[in-house]
Amino acid sequence: MAKATSVRLLDSGSCVIDQSHITWNVGCGTPVRFPVYSVLIEHPDGLIMFDTGYDLDVVNEFLPFELPEQTEQQRLPGQLELAGFGTDDVVAMVNSHLHFDHCGGNKHLGRATTFVHELEVREARSPEPFEVLGYADRSWDHAGASFELLSGDVTLADGVHLFHTPGHTIGHYSLLVEVEGLERPLLFMADVAYTPDAYARDHQAGFHHDPVAGVRSIRRVKRIAREWNAEIFFTHDMEVFRTYKLAPDAYAA
Ligand code: ZN
Repeated sequence: MAKATSVRLLDSGSCVIDQSHITWNVGCGTPVRFPVYSVLIEHPDGLIMFDTGYDLDVVNEFLPFELPEQTEQQRLPGQLELAGFGTDDVVAMVNSHLHFDHCGGNKHLGRATTFVHELEVREARSPEPFEVLGYADRSWDHAGASFELLSGDVTLADGVHLFHTPGHTIGHYSLLVEVEGLERPLLFMADVAYTPDAYARDHQAGFHHDPVAGVRSIRRVKRIAREWNAEIFFTHDMEVFRTYKLAPDAYAA
């Protein structure tokens, strides 16, 4: 058994939403540009991805008002190449959830098995009316895709832990990765809270499946962060994103 040797953040470009979507009901009328990225884990068991960013064509078709900005190199194949890998090198991908900005690159990873919560797949295939736009990208659900449906908390590989953190969506997972030689594990809460400010105030995103579960999940992530002394990564905050190391740079010993 051996843990991950590195973690890289793959930049997927950015989009714009209203501040009230970042902190539920607060700050209406203020547009905010937010980053989208995915996480590449180098592990002795093989390359694992957590989320795959968004597909520019899908956003332009279904959510053009989010003003997507994504270069060719910010597409998943370009980002993997920048990190020194090809799309066929990835053996497993986990989707924190199946919103369009977390699964848009799945279709490029033909060899990888998709690990996703069983309830998330059910919901994304048959969303409630208010979830239809969030689940607008269905390209993850193609005939060649092989799925491993999960439930509860799961340790996917040595040092790669998934925590079921529902609320934002029904089958939402957060990720904690132990990297060989790094003092602190890395914690990716995905969309449990979008920004440091939202997290500090227990403010979930305006978009959620179950707001009560959402607040519980923010508190659960705080407990996990404390218990593991983890370094927290926020998913959709441009200011902190600019301080992160991006591929080809890596979080490694
Ligand atoms: Zn989401």
